[in-house]
Parts: sequence; structure tokens; C-alpha cells
Amino acid sequence: MNWEQVPNHVDGKDVPAQSGEWLDKHRPADGSLLCRVARSGAADVEEAVAAARRAQPAWAERTVVARGDLCREIALAMREQRDELSEIVAAETGKPLDAARGETDAAIEMGFFMAGEGRRFYGRTTTASMAHRQVMSIRRPLGVAGLLISFNTPLPNVAWKVFPGILCGNACVLKPSEHTPASAHRLAATCREAGLPDGVMNVVQGLGPEAGAALVEHPDVDLVSFTGSAATGRWINETAGRRLAKVCLELGGKNALVVCDDADLDNAVRSALASAFSNAGQRCASASRIVVFDSVYDDFRERFLAAARDYDPGPVISEDALERLVAAGAERLDRPGYWVAPTVLEDVAPDADVSCAELFGPLTILYRVRDFDEALALVNASPYGLTAAIHTASIHRAMRFAELAQAGVVVVNGGTHGSEPHMGFGGVKQSGTGWREAGVEALDVYSDWKYVNLISDPERV
Ligand code: NAD
Repeated sequence: MNWEQVPNHVDGKDVPAQSGEWLDKHRPADGSLLCRVARSGAADVEEAVAAARRAQPAWAERTVVARGDLCREIALAMREQRDELSEIVAAETGKPLDAARGETDAAIEMGFFMAGEGRRFYGRTTTASMAHRQVMSIRRPLGVAGLLISFNTPLPNVAWKVFPGILCGNACVLKPSEHTPASAHRLAATCREAGLPDGVMNVVQGLGPEAGAALVEHPDVDLVSFTGSAATGRWINETAGRRLAKVCLELGGKNALVVCDDADLDNAVRSALASAFSNAGQRCASASRIVVFDSVYDDFRERFLAAARDYDPGPVISEDALERLVAAGAERLDRPGYWVAPTVLEDVAPDADVSCAELFGPLTILYRVRDFDEALALVNASPYGLTAAIHTASIHRAMRFAELAQAGVVVVNGGTHGSEPHMGFGGVKQSGTGWREAGVEALDVYSDWKYVNLISDPERV
């Protein structure tokens, strides 16, 4: 693809922003200019929403099996382009090519999973209290879906929304993160090459408060599905909520990993390292709090700090992100690009800002607790509730934790992350508004249920 300019993709065509303005996008790994990105505004959103609105009825008229077949074609095309897609992701995020490949594969798998759902678009049938009546439920599309996403795993973030969105018969307007414009642009082209009709997937590039806000505020957008920070999510919920649009929010986390006195410490250290520092800690599910029983604290701490010193988390996404982390106590590395050292804080009060706010970087905090009850109370003290993990040999502790940890995902003896296309994913409290993405649960976001009453013998009712 042409790396110099990343335009919008509207109604099957690449177009610059109507203002003619461009943003600069830099490579996180060395700070050099990667590309210029269309700086879109309300006029561009208007055009994209109109294109989606025009394209949606014919798309929804196709059978869901046919729409699933197209998801499969897109996934197959992505597989052909795996190297190119992964190289784009590596360049725009700074993550290693292997990690980018893994994410490309995850995005492809979501396409295959949703393709299969085209043949399992089940509703229910039931009787009624009135005679000669059967009732069945069918899924119907919502119309135009406005999709806004974070930069952290750009291709899966697109795939988790676009595949279920189009499978259910919606047309989409996607606003990717301004930090990862190129992978979304390439994917839109892939969709078109695979045969997706023009206007079913549109991409409007640009900044959140400009292009993103215009999409959220547009009265003809039926669903706003957002993955990003709680602060932005709160504004989106208020704004789209005023016109009573359907709103799905997948937000941040301050996820805790608990190490009990009966834990396998080697496994706990491995899990904590990957959870805290992989993807430069830029995961909604990263372990930014590590809660360790007093009796194993010193042993765990020594091993964890030694391993953290050798860990290369990769760069964070931008100069702004780097400055936020340095202000919280991380050390900037002396090299071009946006690099900070993996950072472990201790002796921090559970109600300190750094304990409560999501920092979205390779920074984690160690806490010392007496026992299970104190650990659980600390886990649940967060305003967030996305994921949580416990390391223990006790099935009783594990089950108790699974029941009582306030989180949408719980892991026993592993990291705080580990979602897959067939598993519902989402959080409680300020981590979301109760929807689950991925899995068959995602179909509930992108469709509405309709209940159809069938009366077999009107004369005898
Ligand atoms: P962000 O909220 O800054 O931005 C997310 C998206 O919203 C971007 O496309 C951005 O341009 C847009 N945006 C920003 N302000 C906007 C506005 N006023 N109106 C409309 N759109 C706006 O978040 P980020 O820094 O890109 O991502 C990090 C956050 O995402 C973290 O909180 C992380 O936990 C969360 N996240 C959650 C999940 C999940 O599944 N729960 C997954 C990945 C990331």
C-alpha cells in the first residue's frame, strides 16, 4: 500500500478529508514520520453515514448465510495478506512482527468464527398462553453501526466489531484510532477486494474529538459500538444516549493478579510478567496491580524484579502516552521513539491515584496482603472490573475467587488476559456497560430480537 497518505474509504472509494487537511503519524519505534492521515470532520462523517444508509438495505436483504460466506472470503483474503497486514501493524504500533502476526491471525479467526455463525443464526420458538399460537424470535439488523476503536491491537479491534456487524446485516462506519490508521485502511480495501459491496464498510480517519465525536453525534447512526477509555466512553454514552441510540462500551481495566501463599511461584512470575508488560502494557486486560500474600512477597518480588529488568516491552504508542507514564513514575529510555523501562512500584496506597487510574503502559504495582480476604477486598476496590487472575493450588480459593472477584473474566493460574473469538469478553463496573463482544454474545450487540406471533387458526382464537 501507499504509505505516504492514508485517506478515508467511503462508498468503496479512497477519498481525502473534505477539508484537505492531513495529520502526521509517527513510528513509535523511532519517532520518524510514518504517514499522513486524513483529518476528517463532520462533513466526511456525513458522507460516510449516507453511503452506509444507502448500502444497508440491499446488504440486509442477502441471506445471513451469504453474509457469512463473505466474512469467510474476507478472512481468506486476510490470510493471503497476512505478512503485509502484520508489517503495517508492526510499523504503526512498534510491536514486534511476531506479535503483530499473532494479532493478524486472531483477527482472521474472528472472520471464520462469524462466517460459521451465518449458519447458526438461531432464534427460539415457543408456545403461548393463547390457543393456536406459536411465537418465534428472529434477529434483525440495526441499520448503520458507528464503530470507534482503540489502537492497542488494531486488527482484532476492527475484526471484533466489523465481522459481527456485517454478519448481522448492518452497514458500518469505522473511526479507527488516529494512532493506527493504516491497518484499518488496508482492511477496508481487503473487504472490497473480497467482494463486500461498496458502502457496507466505510472508514473515516481522524481525531477523536473531530471525526469520532461527529460520528457519535450523527442522528442517523443506530448503534455506537466503542472500545476505548472510560473517559471517552462516558461522553459517548451521554451523547448517543440523549437520542436513545443503542450504545455498546468496552472500556478500561485496572486488573489484578493475586499470588497466594500456595502458588507455583515460577508460573506466577511468568504470568505476571506477560500480563503486566506484553504489548507494552497497552492491553485493557493488563495486570497493573499484583497482589501478593505476605508470606511469599519477598520471594516473589525478588524473582519478578529480576525478570522485569530483562523484559523488553517495546515502545508505547505516542509521546503523550510516554509523558503520562513518566509522570506516574516510569523511566524514559535514552533512545529515539517512545520507550519506557518496565516499571514496578511498591508501597503505594490502594486509594492513591496511581492505584486507581488506568495508565495503559508497562507499569505495575506490587501490594502486600495478609490473606485471601484482604486480597479479594483489594481486587474489588477498583472502579474497574474487566479481568482478574489468581495463582493458587487450592480449588476452594480458586472457586471462591471466581465467584466473588468483580470482573467480567477470571483466570486461575494464568495471566489476566486470554480472550478468543468464541468467548464473550467484557467487564463490569466502569469497564463497560454490560455487553459482551466476541462469541455469539456479540450478535446481541449488532442485532435486535424480534418476536413473531403466528396464529394458526384465527377462527378458533
Ligand atoms: P481513547 O478513549 O482515547 O480512544 C479510543 C477511540 O475513541 C479512538 O479512536 C479515539 O480517536 C476516539 N475518541 C477519543 N475521543 C473521542 C471523542 N470525544 N469522541 C469520539 N471518539 C473519541 O482510548 P485509547 O487510548 O485509544 O485506548 C486505550 C483504552 O482502550 C484503554 O482504556 C483500554 O483499556 C481500552 N480498551 C478496552 C478494550 C476492551 O475490550 N474493554 C480493548 C482495548 C482497549
